[in-house]
Amino acid sequence: MRKKIVAGNWKMNKNLEEGLSLASEVINIAVDEITPSAGVTIVLNPSFVHLASVRKLIPAGKHVFLGAQNCHHKASGAFTGEISVEMLKSLPVDYTIIGHSERREYFGETNALIAEKLNLLLANGITPIFCCGEALPIREAETHLAYVAQQITESLFHLSAEDLQKVVIAYEPIWAIGTGKTASSAQAQEMHAHLRQHLAGKYGQDVANEISILYGGSCNPSNARELFACADVDGGLIGGASLKARDFIEIAKSF
Ligand code: PEP
Repeated sequence: MRKKIVAGNWKMNKNLEEGLSLASEVINIAVDEITPSAGVTIVLNPSFVHLASVRKLIPAGKHVFLGAQNCHHKASGAFTGEISVEMLKSLPVDYTIIGHSERREYFGETNALIAEKLNLLLANGITPIFCCGEALPIREAETHLAYVAQQITESLFHLSAEDLQKVVIAYEPIWAIGTGKTASSAQAQEMHAHLRQHLAGKYGQDVANEISILYGGSCNPSNARELFACADVDGGLIGGASLKARDFIEIAKSF
């Protein structure tokens, strides 16, 4: 049974006091209102500088986990200002987002570079949340299915089946991120089913069926239920709505 996951990507928002307040609120409501038997994994992804503090708030043995928003693609060395996977492991973090479209667009990250990050995370026992997704012109040209499958081929297909099953995929159409324009459930399901079949073509259906594929892009408490009801949508990567504890939890309760 693949995991149901709702991960909040706080991006470059919240100072330390605000971040700790948001994290406490989310954790308290999550522990009170969502039982572990609901089978939902909740991941908080604050900025790097808040990770150690938020870590201390997360109770052990619960369904709330800690994630980073990025990592460097080299293990260590002269990369001033960067954060290594080894540093994240020492906190520890449980998950790390890689290949977010904002990283691809503003920091020139390529599928090959993201594969290097993925390898380091897996070697250090941290679950990568691998983001993929197409820009609007690609969707309008109706080449989106092949485009996103190619992102997966180039960043993931060097992995063994065993390692692939440790990866979470987040499909995030760029035209839906932060725009209020959500993909319809039919559009999300079409892409998620396509990506699962793409994985099955290389690794077999049993392996593909084990991979959680999250949807991201203007997901909110009003549309989450319909999106999460899709057969191949296993949860969400949530940006804006993860900054409000109640909204985020309502999304996590939408399965
Ligand atoms: C994101 O950036 O990962 C995201 C899904 O953002 P939003 O929910 O704000 O569209």
